Order: sequence, then structure tokens, then C-alpha cells
Amino acid sequence: HFDADVVPHAPEDPLFGLMAAYRNDTFDKKVDLGIGAYRDNNAKPWVLPVVKKADEALRTDPDFNHEYLPIAGLANFTNASQKLVLGADSPAIREKRVCTVQTVSGTGAVHLGALFLSKFYAGRTAYFSDPTWVNHHQIFTNVHIPIATYPYFSAQTKGLDFEGMLDTIGKAAEGSIILLHSCAHNPTGVDPTQEQWKEISRVMKEKKLFPFFDSAYQGFASGDLNKDAWAIRYFIEQGFELCIAQSYSKNLGLYGERAGNFHFVTGASSDAESTISRIASQLAIIQRSEISNPPAYGARVASAILNDQALFAQWEEDLRTMSGRIIEMRNHLRSKLEEMGTPGTWNHITDQIGMFSYTGLTEKQVLKIRGEAHVYMTKNGRISMAGLNTKNIDYFAEAVDKVVR
Ligand code: PMP
Repeated sequence: HFDADVVPHAPEDPLFGLMAAYRNDTFDKKVDLGIGAYRDNNAKPWVLPVVKKADEALRTDPDFNHEYLPIAGLANFTNASQKLVLGADSPAIREKRVCTVQTVSGTGAVHLGALFLSKFYAGRTAYFSDPTWVNHHQIFTNVHIPIATYPYFSAQTKGLDFEGMLDTIGKAAEGSIILLHSCAHNPTGVDPTQEQWKEISRVMKEKKLFPFFDSAYQGFASGDLNKDAWAIRYFIEQGFELCIAQSYSKNLGLYGERAGNFHFVTGASSDAESTISRIASQLAIIQRSEISNPPAYGARVASAILNDQALFAQWEEDLRTMSGRIIEMRNHLRSKLEEMGTPGTWNHITDQIGMFSYTGLTEKQVLKIRGEAHVYMTKNGRISMAGLNTKNIDYFAEAVDKVVR
């Protein structure tokens, strides 16, 4: 019989606990910096104007229905998504060396990819940056892929521990899976420079390692879709065989609609087309057993935008609005702290990019700032820049100033 005693209570998700504590706080100046979603200057969720437009067109389309999508997803969406991440003129697309399966957003893409690798690339270890998005650990562990980490964040510089990273990657066994955040690293906000990416690629090529890119913030980081995809495209130019988990949660603000893809790209060879066809067929079988077919609505919205020139241009504008506001908050926070002469260096606030910033605040300081100023952030000192706005940023800066003195 089922012995319920073998089921221990799982630890509470730290982010969930933080959100609940924030909700229960009645202080009027409380600040939520734990949130992993974009907020506008009024601390409200923001439906992208381009998404509103696409959404209205979909709702009023007389042919709209709720039929299943094919197992691999909506073809107009997956095709346009390949072009978005790889570049419209990508030789990999031209040479039919790419296959794509629409997934339950980025999380589902990481999972589908990990499950595929556990079946057809067994025995390899997956290396994650230390730290990384915590779900990477859980997802790969669920499919029994052994995990290791490579150094990433330097507590001293609050930037990249580039030497540590290269050293560990360079010692990984041939064939190891190296998970890389293509831009806007979560949780640190620290990205390699293009020169550093070239060096990472060189070492990985020499050691015959397998890149698994997690692309959750394309266009959201810099405001430029091509710039944010640079690393992936560079690796493909270098001839790597690789895979990509792609999410539209942040860059289209489609969080709850679960729009994303898993892409597999093989190297150039005369039988690449047949290889990719076999891989696609296996991915389809896995997909069938996991979710049968992916969620339709977000993919339809995204597809409408990706496949229409005018809507695409408006999307680029919306991306600049979001990334621009975040960059402004970074600039303001840094200059305010420097103006107040807050002890320490604060250049990392503007050196880091994307939604998150590792402030360098210690756990003790984080708890103090929560207790005294009602500012909510995770214990590792990570803040979501999207939680800052022109109304609360000085209050936050002053609270930081107080705890570090
Ligand atoms: N990877 C990273 C690094 C992320 O930050 C996120 C979003 N928090 C995801 C993947 C997946 O998000 P989603 O499933 O909403 O696309």
C-alpha cells in the first residue's frame, strides 16, 4: 500500500515565501524586489501594446477556435522563432540543420532538452554556472543527469569570475553539457563580454563540449534582439552542435501563456538533414508522452507579431521601453548611492544587465533591510530591477545606504 510517511514535506520555495510576506505587509512604502516579472513605473504588470493589438485581432478573428496544435507546435511560430534566435540569414536554417519543438515556455524547453539528452546523450555531466536559475538543478536532476557547477560570480568584483569559469570548463570531461545563459544571466545580471564569449567558445571547442543555451531574455536585456542573441550565433558560426531553450515570457510579457521553443542545431555535414529529421522525430515522441501538444494561445499571439513587419517593429519599440526603463533604474540607483557616499563600489549595478542584479548585500543586510525598511529581496542579495521605479528608488537607495553603513 502507499506509505504516506515516505513523503517528507518539501521545503517552501523561498521566492513564494517572500511574496507571501510582502503581501501580508501593511506598510505603505513596502517595496517588492523579489518579483521575476516586468513592472511598469507604477509597479503594475505591463501588457505590451503590441501584444494588445495582436490579441484583439485574434479575438475578433471569425476562424478562431480551440483546436489542438500539432505535436511539434504551430509551424508559423516555430519557424519564425528559429529566425529570431539564429538570425533570418542563418546558414543553419538555410542548410536545414535546425529542428524546433514548441514547448511549455522556457521551463518546458529546458525540460524537453534535458529529457532528450538523458535518452540520447546519456552518461554526460551537465555543468551550470554558480549560481544559476535554481530550476536548472531541479529539471536536470529530475531526468537523472549528473550535475556539476563552474565558478561564475566573483563576490569581490561583483562581476564575472572569468578565470575560474574557464579553468573548470577546460577540465570538464569531453562531451560534457555546458549550460550557458545567452544574455541577462539569472540571478546575477553578469554576462561575459563578446571577447570573453570567444574565449569560452575556443575552450569548449578544444575540449569538445556541448553547449546548451538558455535564452530567456532576448531583446529584453539590451533592447536589441540581435545583440542579445550574439553569443548563440557566434557559437553556431564556430561550428558547434548545440541546443537552445527559448522563452517568450519576458520579451513578450506572455508569462502565463507559456510560449517557448526547444531548438536543436547540428553541425554542417552532408547528412545533417537526415540527422535533424531523426532528432525531430524523437523529440516529437517525447513531447507526445509529456504534454501531447503545446499551449496554443501564446504561440498564436507571438506568431502574429513575429510574422508581421509592422507589429514586429512595434515590438522592438516595446522592448526598448522595458529595457530602457530598467537601464534608467540602474543608472539612477548607482548615481544615488555614489552621491550619498554609500560605502563600497556600485559600478556593478550598471555593469550588470537584464532583470536582475546581484547587489552584493549579505544575507544579514537583506534581513535587516526587510525588517527595517520593508524592502523584500532574496537572501542572496538579488534584486529585480523591474521592482524599482521613480517613486520608490530613492527610498530604496537610502535603505541600502543605512544597512551598509
Ligand atoms: N531560464 C531562465 C534563466 C529564466 O530566468 C527563466 C524565467 N524565470 C526561464 C528559463 C523560464 O521561464 P519560462 O518558463 O516562464 O519561460
